[in-house]
Amino acid sequence: MAGSGIFTTGPYHILAYGTLLGTTFWHFAAVQSRLFPIYFTVQTAAPVILAATYPRNEGGSLGLSGVLDPANRWSVLSPIAAIFASALLNFVVLLPATIKVMVKRRDQEKKDGKKSWEPAPHSQEMIALNKQFGKLHGISSLLNLTTFIGTITNADPVASGSGDSTAINEFLDKFDVFLFDCDGVLWSGDHVFEGIPETLSLLRSKVVFVTNNSTKSRQDYVKKLTDLGIDAQVDDVFGSSYSSAVYIARILELPAGKPKVFVVGEAGIETELRAENVPFIGGTDPALRRDITPDDYRGLADGSLLDPEVGAVLVGLDFHINYLKMATAFQYLRRGAAFLATNRDSTLPNSHSFFPGAGAISIPFVHMLGGVEPTSFGKPSQAMMDAIEGKFKLDRSRTCMVGDRLNTDIQFGIEGRLGGTLAVLTGVNKKEDWEMEGPPSFPTTM
Ligand SMILES: [Mg+2]
Repeated sequence: MAGSGIFTTGPYHILAYGTLLGTTFWHFAAVQSRLFPIYFTVQTAAPVILAATYPRNEGGSLGLSGVLDPANRWSVLSPIAAIFASALLNFVVLLPATIKVMVKRRDQEKKDGKKSWEPAPHSQEMIALNKQFGKLHGISSLLNLTTFIGTITNADPVASGSGDSTAINEFLDKFDVFLFDCDGVLWSGDHVFEGIPETLSLLRSKVVFVTNNSTKSRQDYVKKLTDLGIDAQVDDVFGSSYSSAVYIARILELPAGKPKVFVVGEAGIETELRAENVPFIGGTDPALRRDITPDDYRGLADGSLLDPEVGAVLVGLDFHINYLKMATAFQYLRRGAAFLATNRDSTLPNSHSFFPGAGAISIPFVHMLGGVEPTSFGKPSQAMMDAIEGKFKLDRSRTCMVGDRLNTDIQFGIEGRLGGTLAVLTGVNKKEDWEMEGPPSFPTTM
């Protein structure tokens, strides 16, 4: 394992921590007068070693600048500073004063011919000295309590591995915009991953939700995000349906008299096409949710059942796909309609498993058309990146793509020459996928 062994700071941090905790307990446990100087010295030196050896997750130490970083003010600096200040006060003030009283008490014991700790009666001088000693020991114990609380507080970030806030902050400071994939990153189906709403609310950068899922419109996504406790507006969402609608309405020049789109997909596509004033048929039309008949074959073959104004076929994830829809779409494509796909994801994560994705709907058409590929608008298509850049006016070098799929999300970020890509392990791809030889795309951060 990288970073292990006697030359790393981690073991010394733990040793210093254990020693400090031990001496602190021992103070409460017994009055070991002769050993006071030794353990006060250890108590004062230990927090210095703690600060110098505070470990990072990936090995090495935070260093003095890391400990002093404002981001670590409460988790690291404060407890260590409190430990050091209380130990130093014990060492510099309380220890000499206590020793002085102890010397006086020894002299008095000789005079009285009786030990200070023996039962009363005692001389007036010894009573005063015992009182003084008790007072000093009380103050010292209170200071020791501060050391104890500081030591326990210091242990928490070390144990939870969050002593890496400097590295995390350095990473976050590199970006103004985070593009977040949703399925497999924020949630799986309707199960939002732990800590996601809190993490997103802590991000100071602009967050854009970039999803390939075409079954939902941007409004549907805002509702889902809000229901799951994630704050979002329509403009924060960029879906493959929206990307497709924008492209068809503003970039694709359909032939004269053929402005309509035949949709193979769900309501999300229809909502976005409507928003961009793109006329369409198919989609969720109940007339197409039935078995094909001999009349359908004849009418599709001779074109009498086809709408002559259709100039494009847009294929997304369709939960009601059937032979009639496929046959109808294929007839439009055979007659020259533009072949468009919202996205090409092979699978869709749900309920901690995987189901057919939009690619599973469009790939049969590629097969039927003898290998002709659709123009796709989901990740990793750079048509989507161009649209996002145009809409949000982002600086690509200060933008990071966060996703779970190497061949869509991470490739999208790399091909788009973004400043960073961050792969999460909650969705489709696992660490082994990019550790294998020649992975499809390699994220800059995991
Ligand atoms: Mg995903």
